Amino acid sequence: MGPESYYDILGVGRDANEKEIKKAYRDLARKYHPDVCKEPGAEERFKKVNEAYSILSDPQKRAQYDRMGHDAFSSASKGSYSGGGGYGGFHADFSGFGDIFDTFFGGGQRSAGPRRGADLLMRMRITLNDAVFGAEKEIDLTHSEACPDCDGTGSQTRKTRTCTTCGGSGQMRQMSQSIFGQFVRMTTCTDCGGRGTIPEERCKACGGSGRQQVRRKVTVHIPPGIDTGMRLRMDGYGEAGDYGAPNGDLFIEVEVTPHKRFVRRGDNLEIRVSVSPAQAALGSQIEIETIDGRSIDLTIPAGVQHDTGLKVPGEGVRRRGRPGDLIARVTVVIPGSLSQEQRELYEQLLEIEGKKSQKSHKKGFFHDVVDKMKESVK
Ligand SMILES: [Zn+2]
Ligand SMILES: [Zn+2]
Repeated sequence: MGPESYYDILGVGRDANEKEIKKAYRDLARKYHPDVCKEPGAEERFKKVNEAYSILSDPQKRAQYDRMGHDAFSSASKGSYSGGGGYGGFHADFSGFGDIFDTFFGGGQRSAGPRRGADLLMRMRITLNDAVFGAEKEIDLTHSEACPDCDGTGSQTRKTRTCTTCGGSGQMRQMSQSIFGQFVRMTTCTDCGGRGTIPEERCKACGGSGRQQVRRKVTVHIPPGIDTGMRLRMDGYGEAGDYGAPNGDLFIEVEVTPHKRFVRRGDNLEIRVSVSPAQAALGSQIEIETIDGRSIDLTIPAGVQHDTGLKVPGEGVRRRGRPGDLIARVTVVIPGSLSQEQRELYEQLLEIEGKKSQKSHKKGFFHDVVDKMKESVK
């Protein structure tokens, strides 16, 4: 059996409107909320319901989901960049919303003990060359790290004691009354901030938080083939977690700046090449420059039409080892002015084609007017 669709999870039809989706979500979220439902699998169900709602409640994501189908969509939203390993801790997130689930379930509402650090998002502009070939870029990163003075414990003595308010759980129970009955809600302990421990003697450097803001130079490996909107993930480069908990991750969202000559279309690169009518009619050999600055010969076949794309294999974007192609799109440029010799030859051509040229008429009043008009336009 295939995975349940988000519509199945919420128990609504594919044509359900916003209101229906919201209502279904509310009902199910109440039913499976881990604070309320003690059935086995309720938490899993609750997550699924949230996941489904996060997609279907967003018109853009819903449209994308409808278009791609469940399998393709969920693997795209969770999948890692498959451009080949060797980037060490780096992943690119194709869809750019894979971390929405973390945002949804993060925050540690129910998690006891030390909390993981927050994720960071940075944007980075790169050139098309860097996107095509990959690159290493140094960035200035400001994030929190474990305080070196107290090793992240928050305590001058590096010793902590158990928080008496929460008994070390980091959580406080809060009773509340609601229309569904009495709720026991767990909230973060206000005395220890959820850590469950209190520093024996507050660290002077970090004030007991165990963290310090640090500015660092970090090298980012940009894999070849990356495109605007993709995200790179650098594991552990986000904010410092609580003592004993992992750091968050750093996400770098890439924006590729437009190139003067090359336009990217998927894994292909496209350039415009200009040829004369004679070159187009008879065929020709011209030189073009590749994205990495090499000159290569391009054969213009005889009889090529305006706007035809000529393929140069393997000179496109190098993704997954199988590069895209370079497409040279032909622009036939009609000469704006002719030499005497060219004019005679074009007139001969015209004659062969059995058509009349302007010159073969005697210049009359009409032509005088046209010539004058031309002049005044200049
Ligand atoms: Zn400290
Ligand atoms: Zn506490």
